[in-house]
Amino acid sequence: MIDYRQKLSELQRTGSLRRLPDIAHGGIYIECDGRRMLNFSSNDYLGLASRTDLRNEFLERIKGSDIPLSSSSSRLLTGNFKEYARFEELLSRTFGREAALVFNSGYHANTGILPALVDKQTLIIADKLVHASIIDGILLGKAEYKRFRHNDYGQLEKIVSEESSRFEQLIIVTESVFSMDGDIADLQRLVSLKKTYKNILLYVDEAHAVGVRGASGLGLAEELGCIQDIDLLVGTFGKALASMGAYLLCSRVIKEYLVNTMRPLIFSTALPPLQIAWTQFLFERLPEFTAEREHLSAISRLLRVALNGQGGEISDSHIIPYIVGENQPCVEEALRLQREGFYCLPVRPPTVPKGTARIRFSLNAAISEKDMVALIQALNYGSNEIY
Ligand SMILES: *Cc1c(COP(=O)(O)O)cnc(C)c1O
Repeated sequence: MIDYRQKLSELQRTGSLRRLPDIAHGGIYIECDGRRMLNFSSNDYLGLASRTDLRNEFLERIKGSDIPLSSSSSRLLTGNFKEYARFEELLSRTFGREAALVFNSGYHANTGILPALVDKQTLIIADKLVHASIIDGILLGKAEYKRFRHNDYGQLEKIVSEESSRFEQLIIVTESVFSMDGDIADLQRLVSLKKTYKNILLYVDEAHAVGVRGASGLGLAEELGCIQDIDLLVGTFGKALASMGAYLLCSRVIKEYLVNTMRPLIFSTALPPLQIAWTQFLFERLPEFTAEREHLSAISRLLRVALNGQGGEISDSHIIPYIVGENQPCVEEALRLQREGFYCLPVRPPTVPKGTARIRFSLNAAISEKDMVALIQALNYGSNEIY
């Protein structure tokens, strides 16, 4: 028998025990251990999840409708309500792509798409820092895989030139805005690399970019003008879009193939049509949130400048690392900031490389410039105290 109690004590001893936090939400504030703090760890990047006006408008709109609260089935059986087809049609039209497919979550998308599309003649080449769900998707599939150093396209090009003739198909996988460092992929360079070969598919996960980047919020691919050139463009609805689920933009053939082969799509009950309706309600408004995107960009710049040389220079987005170094001082700094009213969390190895324990700030558009300045003052005050 495995002694799970023993395993837990081991986790406790090494400071890696995780707990479900006891928290309460109030707009941009979070309450934890009886303390009310500004939330600097949220994925609600546009601040839409706490907007009562949007919520009320949506509830008003569905009042009296018979929209189901459950799909009661996989879409392949009896769960394919008209809300899905309508929303997928809107997605493909908005992105200007042949087809769109909606999934229950980003985790479903990333663990399902790759295993369905690969075979033993496929090589997956993934950035070293891609999300755990992508790693799981790679491990579930039958393809060989290689990782390239984070955003090191020189190394990627070398792997591609060595391997492209050995495999029938290569799939290059990256995120657009990276979740830990907040830096971004050079999508244009990846697109031009892909175009130099005949057998490369490009897979991009925009989980942290959709809603936030691009003139109408369609993501970094929109901002960099390459939506058409990314074979498999994935994004999620659980972060900036304040809902749940994920999407893939792809060709009609790939969509049809996934409907036939993708296990998390086939063997899991589809999201409730009500949830799809809420997602669509917000997605339709995405182009209107320009002020939110601009404000988020402005406060992000403030924090990046304030943390220049301490991690701020790494980021190119609203996710900003403050690299403290060793684990214990990092945890203490996070606790100090929490005591000052700023809810931010330490990220330690193995999530990030050893010796780069950091506080990860994840900003949202509901944070005012005044609050941002207060955080920066608290950060400066702390470093004066230490040095
Ligand atoms: C959050 C995240 C996911 C998972 O999406 P969910 O909808 O939360 O399951 C996938 N990829 C990346 C890069 C993410 O940050």
